[in-house]
Amino acid sequence: MKKDSNASDCSSPCATRSMRLADLMYGHEGRFMCSLSGRFDPEKYIDAPPIQICEMKCGCWIVADGNNRVGLILRKNPEATIANIPDQLIALFPFGEWDSGLLEWANPCPKSFREAMKKQVRRVAAPKNSIYCTIERDKDKNFLAYNFTAKKRQFISATGETVDEAKRLLEEMLKVELGSENLSLVWHAQGSLEDHQCRPGINTGASS
Ligand SMILES: [Zn+2]
Repeated sequence: MKKDSNASDCSSPCATRSMRLADLMYGHEGRFMCSLSGRFDPEKYIDAPPIQICEMKCGCWIVADGNNRVGLILRKNPEATIANIPDQLIALFPFGEWDSGLLEWANPCPKSFREAMKKQVRRVAAPKNSIYCTIERDKDKNFLAYNFTAKKRQFISATGETVDEAKRLLEEMLKVELGSENLSLVWHAQGSLEDHQCRPGINTGASS
């Protein structure tokens, strides 16, 4: 990734420095995980590459490198802003100055840290006899719900235009297949089900 001398000089306006870390997009795919523990201590990361924060086409900013360090800061201080990170540990890349195509391929629908960290909620134990089903988005942007264990490893699937529709259709099929009205389905989402959703208010640009 390109790194130039003024990437971290706050050429970018105060507006960028006052952005909340929680509103930045979490750059890793999937659920939030933070492999670091303890407190964010810049001294500890003196040799680490700067936290790379890159502007997306839509105006949101995504953490391309340094997600764990940002996660560590947010755990202690959910209200932290970019200004809470020492300048020498930050590199800001406006759109066009980094390879956004690579990211779109690796992580097509990034969510904010706020959202990603929320999903960390512990799962409730599924009741016995639960039927584990999977839902994913197909390439036509419909939703495919499927199960292949409920009936002798037979693949049963349903497609819907919405998540709820696909789930409902599969549930109806399973009820018929298994001859039971009371099914306890446990859903696992494969990949992201949504498009990237911009955080309101952070992509308003320099309009003021
Ligand atoms: Zn966006």
